Amino acid sequence: MLKVRQLVKVYPGGVTALRGIDLDVPKGMYGLLGPNGAGKSTFMKILAGLLEPTGGEVTLDDLDVVAQPEAVHSRLGYLPQDFGFYPHLTGTQMLTYLLKLKGVTSPKGLPHLVSELLERVNLTFAAKRKVKGYSGGMRQRLGIAQAVAGNPRLIIVDEPTAGLDPEERQRFYRLLAELADERSVLLSTHIVEDVAVLCPRFAVISKGRLMAETTPTQAQARLEGKIFEGRGSNEELRAIRDRHLVTQAILVEGRNRARIFVADGPAPAGFEPVSATLEDAYMTLVHAPADDLTCRAVDAAASVADEAVA
Ligand code: ADP
Repeated sequence: MLKVRQLVKVYPGGVTALRGIDLDVPKGMYGLLGPNGAGKSTFMKILAGLLEPTGGEVTLDDLDVVAQPEAVHSRLGYLPQDFGFYPHLTGTQMLTYLLKLKGVTSPKGLPHLVSELLERVNLTFAAKRKVKGYSGGMRQRLGIAQAVAGNPRLIIVDEPTAGLDPEERQRFYRLLAELADERSVLLSTHIVEDVAVLCPRFAVISKGRLMAETTPTQAQARLEGKIFEGRGSNEELRAIRDRHLVTQAILVEGRNRARIFVADGPAPAGFEPVSATLEDAYMTLVHAPADDLTCRAVDAAASVADEAVA
């Protein structure tokens, strides 16, 4: 239902944030995973019709998001990364204001819709409290209430769980999963757990390129027999890093423990094979595109960038 073709964004000043992304987003929960600076927010803003791409096409149910952003507006809900709230308004006042801005109407009247939406995101208990007293999770749920107003076909959520404590995160996951029963929910994140918990499919982008489009199971299965775990001194780990990709390095009881991706050849002495986690899969995909996964990234940016500069 959401189709992205050859999407390129070159910011004024010359930063190329997207280098030709092709992606189809089906119904349900879909993850967009990538490190900071990968281009996720740029991608999400273009999908939401808030930023013009330098090149490429985006269609939602065959409507052209780039050419007719207004036509798509009512089919789309967006929770940006830096969602602005007026701290002195109550939850009810804030949501009413946001719905008016969005031009949402309801046959039963706006106050009825506002209380319905607050109920939907479990905020009825805080409807009369000022937003400045809301926790991070409550603010995110209020943001979701405005995104879901008007029953959009697609909800775009940009980095929603950063800064939430584990309990708030779980609650937010449940809310997103519920919303994804009836529509597409595109979740951008750099947190692998978000995808592991929620997304049957996901894409990885890195430096503006699509590195993979896959399922968690498929992404992990292709690493079978290639992930090893072991311990080593700082010096030993440095030497290992020169030869292998370290997918995780942590301290356990004061000693280094590392997981590494061994593409070919023997593993370092003392390293044992282990099952791959989604974190291992993500780390390998960020560093090397997966030709075996449905990966349709094409470097269209260079030619479009040239045109933009000319
Ligand atoms: P992510 O959301 O994955 O962290 P972004 O889309 O925010 O990535 O950024 C992708 C790249 O584009 C980064 O190099 C960033 O510095 C650059 N960028 C983002 N916004 C702008 C802007 N308004 N002007 C110029 N460069 C930008």
